[in-house]
Amino acid sequence: MHSFNYKKGVLHCENVSMEEIAKQHPTPFYLYSSKTIMDHFCKIKNAFKEIDPLICFSMKSNSNLSICRALVNAGSGLDIVSGGELYKALKTGCPPERIVYASVGKTEDEIRTAIRKGILFFNIESVPELIMIDTVAKKLKKKPNVALRINPDVKARTHDYITTGTKEKKFGIDTRVAEEIFDNANKYSNVVLNGIHLHIGSQITETAPFVRAIKKTLDFIEKNGIDIKWFNLGGGFGIVYNSERARSAKEFARALLPIIKDKPYKFIFEPGRFIVGNGGVLVTKVLYVKTGSGGKQFAIVDAGMNDLLRPSLYEAHHDILPIVKSKRESRKYDVVGPICESGDYLALDRKMPEIIPGEYLSVMSAGAYGYVMASNYNSRPRGAELLVKNGDVKTVRRRETYQDLIRGEKNIP
Ligand code: PLP
Repeated sequence: MHSFNYKKGVLHCENVSMEEIAKQHPTPFYLYSSKTIMDHFCKIKNAFKEIDPLICFSMKSNSNLSICRALVNAGSGLDIVSGGELYKALKTGCPPERIVYASVGKTEDEIRTAIRKGILFFNIESVPELIMIDTVAKKLKKKPNVALRINPDVKARTHDYITTGTKEKKFGIDTRVAEEIFDNANKYSNVVLNGIHLHIGSQITETAPFVRAIKKTLDFIEKNGIDIKWFNLGGGFGIVYNSERARSAKEFARALLPIIKDKPYKFIFEPGRFIVGNGGVLVTKVLYVKTGSGGKQFAIVDAGMNDLLRPSLYEAHHDILPIVKSKRESRKYDVVGPICESGDYLALDRKMPEIIPGEYLSVMSAGAYGYVMASNYNSRPRGAELLVKNGDVKTVRRRETYQDLIRGEKNIP
């Protein structure tokens, strides 16, 4: 469900014509619907209202300040994974007591700053990290909260690169090690060990892996008589990109609430993709259409893998829609970018109405893990981020210039 729909043959974002937006802003650019993003936040909040969870939007999926700020103003907290995200989270006005910090590689500096700022808690990924946080806390004479991230060894059907809850992955702590940590909690006297964290992966469209992981972890907590206040269930709720049948927030709630609602913990969710994924698109213009030497049709557009990495990195599917609907006959195209890599594509063998140079295309469901993964590869300035809100189009990040490309760089003779 989203607010990108055709009206009289022209794709609109909410009530604004995307053809008009594309004529007024250089492509490529990201375009977000404020309504879609806020609706998805509310969907999770309402579906789980029985347990009144703290929802910490996962900034790694989209860290645009205006988007995060809107969510924070609606009551969201933020899930961060770096000092940079902490810096941005505080800029949005997010109260530190609504910030949770994951990452297998937090540096001493990042830990120090997060403790000083008074975040809600750290999600701990290893014993050496726990020792580091304990040591830094001692020096600062503070006592931060920490939650152990359990690796429940539960596999979810998703891309291997975004699977995080199985034994062979770098994330989380084995339950035997976690047990030892809780048994010897007095060794870590400068932290308050009062939480458990789980995050088994991203773009998970079934409920069963969540149920399995939570049940396994609850068993672990109860069997060992572990006393915690916070149970952070992580993110991972999947969305529809293609033909998958994703679950609604209500369906996730129907599966999870029966096993958690009577537990005496304060629950946290860290959704990213579910909130912003379908709330953003990447708008691009067709530069050329060429027939390859093997007879293949290539539509060459002005957005490449530096703008949207997901197809190249995960072989991810994104629907691509013409901004102005056409009745031209359909053909198969590879929709490719200008980058000097054969892996630079947005779609392969995609059947689309005949594509013509100069037309605008909308790469759908690009709101999560889109701009945040964009780069300057091939010295290409990153495009703008635009937000439609109450009928207005706001530039929430300007397009980069060539000067931006050399910012901080030395031109030594
Ligand atoms: N929490 C943690 C610890 C993560 O690593 C991630 C992303 O992988 C998320 C939350 C957000 O996941 P998603 O965008 O699938 O909801």
